[in-house]
Amino acid sequence: MRAVAATGADASRAAFRSFVDEVVIPRAGDFDLAGAVPPDVVAEVAARGYLGAVLPDGPLPLDMVGLGALHEEVGRGCSSLRSLLTVHSMVAFAVHRWGGDAARERWLGPLADGSALGAFCLTESGAGSDVTGLAATAEEDGRGGYVITGHKRWITFGQVADLLLVFARTGAGIGAFLVEAADPAVRRAPVRDVLGTRAGMLAEITLIGCRVGPEALVGGPGTGLNVITGALDVGRYSVAAGCVGIAQGCLEISAAHAATRRQGGALLKDHQLVRRMITRMAVDTEAARLLCLRAGRLKDEGDPGTLVATCAAKYFAAGVAARAASDAVQVHGAVGCVDGHPAARYYRDAKVMEIIEGSSQVHENLIAEDVCRTGGVPRSASPAVPLQGLPPDETTRWEIA
Ligand SMILES: Cc1cc2nc3c(=O)[nH]c(=O)nc-3n(C[C@H](O)[C@H](O)[C@H](O)COP(=O)(O)OP(=O)(O)OC[C@H]3O[C@@H](n4cnc5c(N)ncnc54)[C@H](O)[C@@H]3O)c2cc1C
Repeated sequence: MRAVAATGADASRAAFRSFVDEVVIPRAGDFDLAGAVPPDVVAEVAARGYLGAVLPDGPLPLDMVGLGALHEEVGRGCSSLRSLLTVHSMVAFAVHRWGGDAARERWLGPLADGSALGAFCLTESGAGSDVTGLAATAEEDGRGGYVITGHKRWITFGQVADLLLVFARTGAGIGAFLVEAADPAVRRAPVRDVLGTRAGMLAEITLIGCRVGPEALVGGPGTGLNVITGALDVGRYSVAAGCVGIAQGCLEISAAHAATRRQGGALLKDHQLVRRMITRMAVDTEAARLLCLRAGRLKDEGDPGTLVATCAAKYFAAGVAARAASDAVQVHGAVGCVDGHPAARYYRDAKVMEIIEGSSQVHENLIAEDVCRTGGVPRSASPAVPLQGLPPDETTRWEIA
């Protein structure tokens, strides 16, 4: 089965694929075992412009379909590295879209060339799927700035990020703030031995009376929910594409193993029950890719229906990745059950995809709500839907420029 042709991205996809085959796949197992993506790989990703690819004026001229192809290919090689692209892109997008002049001047260049890495700091003990439980506070300091106090959990690449996008309560509602990770009022503690994306360099981040100036505020004092919605849309699109990459990787290693492993007098690929697993993987992967492609095209057209389309793509692709990874372990038998084997890594990483960027249950709620509201009539565009239990807001519609 051929991959879907991605408008404007075919040539780029070939370059992404060879980078992943040559640089990422041979070392992805080591990243996983070491619990870190090494700096030389991050530097190469940055040098290729991949970290700034979400920015319209960034170093790599990609449309959103092309961005999806990049994140799919990187996801095929290493979900931890893809997760760096995800959270960094979410922060870069938020600064580009809602940052003031000073913030854009200060950060867009370093975010585009990867000399500053971004991390997205939303989750807390009492705020997971439902962010209305956010407890971090940002109090006005009387000079236009804020003093932020709070504790953030499960922050991808929080161990090494330079710029934190932190969500905290202000008197006017939730605000989004840019915080330099090197600030002495920021403490970070590594989170190790996560089930999947083990090289995602997660951290707990504590802010204790962290002072920031007025330029740190991204959007208005009470418009953090819009920033969350917009950034999560980018994150979901990235994760959806990364899930297609996981499923594609599972398909490729399973087809290769089935073509060489002989049991019961025949190659595995000639056993019907193995062929069924491979067929399901191939068809599911292509279906998930098509949903991602649709979400990406709607983004490129500026169609607000992309929000629901992205939820559908993320929901479906996460399930596809989990099934494909389970079948990939099955096809490999015992050798696929060992740490360091790609099937085992895909299996662990795929489970995480059903939890992050809106769990599968969160997406079931969102999609069902949209279907019930609109009557389920097929359409190319739809009004913005509330995300993660947040109220609808005119300004949550997708905009790239
Ligand atoms: C590897 C990894 C990386 C992460 N990176 C980041 C990051 O960079 N930045 C960040 O801010 N956070 C990050 N997170 C946190 C992630 O966003 C949260 O784990 C996620 O939002 C779910 O929240 P929770 O873990 O508190 O689960 P909970 O919200 O407690 O949910 C637990 C279970 O209940 C279900 N559930 C919750 N609400 C409902 C409902 N209304 N209806 C039905 N079922 C429901 C969920 O689907 C889930 O199965 C990361 C997590 C992981 C595991």
